[in-house]
Amino acid sequence: MDNTHEDLDILRDKVRGVTIQIMRAVQERMELARKIGEVKSRLGIDIKDEKVENDIRMTVMSLAEEIGMSTEFALQLLNVLLAESEQVQVQKSEQRVVEKQTHLSIFSKARQLEASGKKIIHMEVGEPDYSAPARVGAALADSFEMKHYHYTDTQGIAKLRDAIATKEGGGISRDQVVVTPGGRFAVFSAITSLLRAGQEMIVIEPAWPAYKECADFVGARTKILRTTIENKWIPDTKQMERMINSSTKMIVLNYPNNPTGKVLDDKIMEKIVLLAKDHGLYLLSDEVYADYVFGEFTSIREYDYAKSIVIGSFSKRYAMTGFRVGYGIANKDIISKMARVQAVAITSVAEPMQRAALAALEVDPSENVQLMKTRLDYVCSKLKKMSLRYIEPEGAMYVYPELPNGDDLTIIERLLEKGVAIAPGTGFGDAYKRYVRISACQPEKTLEKGLDVIASVIREDL
Ligand code: PMP
Repeated sequence: MDNTHEDLDILRDKVRGVTIQIMRAVQERMELARKIGEVKSRLGIDIKDEKVENDIRMTVMSLAEEIGMSTEFALQLLNVLLAESEQVQVQKSEQRVVEKQTHLSIFSKARQLEASGKKIIHMEVGEPDYSAPARVGAALADSFEMKHYHYTDTQGIAKLRDAIATKEGGGISRDQVVVTPGGRFAVFSAITSLLRAGQEMIVIEPAWPAYKECADFVGARTKILRTTIENKWIPDTKQMERMINSSTKMIVLNYPNNPTGKVLDDKIMEKIVLLAKDHGLYLLSDEVYADYVFGEFTSIREYDYAKSIVIGSFSKRYAMTGFRVGYGIANKDIISKMARVQAVAITSVAEPMQRAALAALEVDPSENVQLMKTRLDYVCSKLKKMSLRYIEPEGAMYVYPELPNGDDLTIIERLLEKGVAIAPGTGFGDAYKRYVRISACQPEKTLEKGLDVIASVIREDL
């Protein structure tokens, strides 16, 4: 008995010693990373170097095999180290002095200008200008009258979950639905509950910035698959396949896409689903623009993949952005993980808002969709006259044209001075400084004024 206790003490001492060695080695690695950061900064070299990362990943994988360590665990550890080194290098380099601008930061600048008395045409945010359905207002009043303002089940009231399941084409039960405060929180709870530090997620750019921000929150790494206007914003699935390694856990899709309006055809979707199946990856499909589709669109639900998660929202469909109601649909296991995040953070979505959303589901949004299509066609016709390159949106509420000259932030500053706000291309990916996003969430007359100002600023720049 005593002997066993002594053995335990010896082993614990050894573990302590090894832990100290690891910490010292990690610190030494950080010091080296800091020095590399200084050199890169002096030479003006990018901090991220995919080739160097891949080399070290291969080395670690073969070492893991040689010493009998799980390659998945080894790569996860490596990713934590790589992420930390990147942070250290960013702090050392001067490349980060400029704060990243997104559609939201431009929106808040525009608001400040308005507060100082300037008139602004808002074409930077995806907030429909039309009214929410009248019966939504009545449902809110009823909620008060009937004292429907209590905590609800974390996943949402049963009636609403049933109605969402029906709207999504049936075949799902209420246990497979979680009602969230906006689609944004459904994205947050999916990414933060399914990914851990050091794991990887693939995002197709240009992309809504929140996916990466959510992954950063838990220390997961975002691998970017860039698409181009030349390829009509279609992702290269071969390249996607090459990006997958044993740390990869999720692929994020967003179709109809914000900011490009792209919708992928069945063939590409099938390839992506197959890749996810082959590698056992979660497939997060953000479909908040699914109603704003002008041709064919197939939800990820149709592919019947057990590890897929659909994100939906009432914000865009019914112009209910401020009600903050969205949802996630997935298998029961995934939904209960997402609901745990929600239970910790917010208990439940406000009951009157859930009842308002339930009332909205009875309304057909096709008038809104038609209106958006007409406006997008109008924006495109104006962009064509300006000879700007763009891909005609197949869905969503935006056009993402290429600038003939100059960069997004310079043009956007100049436009703000002239009272027009649009979103910078770089808000959706570092590679897109030659692009801007124009939102069609305004009446045609307002769009016309805004686009005339854009045309004049672009002409000045030529
Ligand atoms: N996904 C995408 C692609 C979006 O553009 C937005 C809003 N701009 C959301 C999700 C979230 O919308 P909400 O939280 O209002 O439902």
